Amino acid sequence: MGYKVNKEKCIGCGSCASICPLGAIKIGADGKAEIDKSKCNNCGKCKEICPMGAIEEEEEAEEKSDN
Ligand code: SF4
Repeated sequence: MGYKVNKEKCIGCGSCASICPLGAIKIGADGKAEIDKSKCNNCGKCKEICPMGAIEEEEEAEEKSDN
């Protein structure tokens, strides 16, 4: 569960970074938004404001093999 940035769609406008109440989003070196998952609480405001529809909900499909 969480949000991720679709870098193909993001134009680096910074709207999401401005609206995030937790300061979890910044524009990275590639000029695209990045979400710091350790700060994000999944409020979804970035997804609402993004003009490009670049913020997407993460699917559970991502398989991780911790432990
Ligand atoms: Fe990229 Fe959307 Fe954030 Fe703008 S609001 S920087 S297009 S993810």
